Amino acid sequence: MTEPHFGFETRAIHAGQAPDETTGAVVTPIYQTSTYAQDEVGVHRGYEYSRTANPTRTALERCLASLEGAASGFAFSSGMAAEDAVLRVLPADSHVIIPNDAYGGTFRLIDKVFGPNGLQYSAVDLSDREQIERAWRPNTRLVWLESPTNPLLGIVDIGAVARLARERGARCVVDNTFATPYLQQPLALGADIVVHSTTKYLGGHSDVVGGFVAVNDVNLATHIAYLQNAVGAVPGPFDCFLVLRGVKTVAVRMERHCANARAVVELLERHPSVASVRYPGLPTHPGHEVAARQMRDFGGMVAFTLAAGEDAALKLVSRTRLFTLAESLGAVESLIEHPAQMTHASVAGSELSVDPALVRVSVGLETAGDLVDDLRQALDSV
Ligand SMILES: *Cc1c(COP(=O)(O)O)cnc(C)c1O
Repeated sequence: MTEPHFGFETRAIHAGQAPDETTGAVVTPIYQTSTYAQDEVGVHRGYEYSRTANPTRTALERCLASLEGAASGFAFSSGMAAEDAVLRVLPADSHVIIPNDAYGGTFRLIDKVFGPNGLQYSAVDLSDREQIERAWRPNTRLVWLESPTNPLLGIVDIGAVARLARERGARCVVDNTFATPYLQQPLALGADIVVHSTTKYLGGHSDVVGGFVAVNDVNLATHIAYLQNAVGAVPGPFDCFLVLRGVKTVAVRMERHCANARAVVELLERHPSVASVRYPGLPTHPGHEVAARQMRDFGGMVAFTLAAGEDAALKLVSRTRLFTLAESLGAVESLIEHPAQMTHASVAGSELSVDPALVRVSVGLETAGDLVDDLRQALDSV
């Protein structure tokens, strides 16, 4: 069932999810158990203890690994736990290069948690090769990449950065949360590691927090597997079930997220209250050509600035009715937020701080016309 020649949608529904051997259950059961009976000491059926492995988690790991075109995949209790595992692979005296508009939680983890233990970092614009080369140090072991970035929807050429990292003996990790494996395949583009917050599009329904790491390299896989078990930031079987359920429809959901985002962008481009629109699907976006090359479509995230500044941005986000004012993204319902005071409050005052006039929307799966009407009435009022 999981042969790689099957299409993405087929693998999303079947990879790792053969009907249950004992009952024939078509849906992978929630194996709500911590331990497993052993036939003799040292003789078991692949499962001993659920921190180490659980059949519902195995199904999720096989499915997501297949979708990323990876040899191995590891599920975690959150996106941050997945990122933590990737960073723990590094020797303590390492230097990492990160995007200057990294996801706020990623910046905090590197700056505040790993930093005091010796990890060094440089935050640069990864779309500028010269900045990467200038930041490079003899102990640079990892380049951390997001594309599209959060919240500015910047685009980074994954193949080019991965090649540069490889030439210099470092690894390249891509946070593929915004794009999903349906829109973008970082390992095929040359990256070494993919991380996800499955909380977002992969889960897709705002009802679970989870993370994922995908790799091809066998030694790296062994190391991540070791950390997953030794540190123990694993998702429970019910959470794995929820992500698996979400993943089955990720292809069709992404198609509609992209279409609805296009409708929203069209409105924003025309509205006088809006100063600038950031969406990689716009031909005027500086990363448009790279995005068109490395992505199937341009995603469901849109950011824009208001001509009247922060006050107007704060008013706007409280005046939409369908777009819910909330952090997070990537689910069926549309969300709106103010990055400077919400998702990116932890980077305020640093070199990563964002424009206070910026608003970010996660365009959901409601009727496109309703979303456009809602944003229009809110924009008209600011
Ligand atoms: C949400 C998010 C994370 C963190 O994931 P959690 O599941 O919230 O721990 C990491 N990267 C990106 C791009 C995200 O959007």
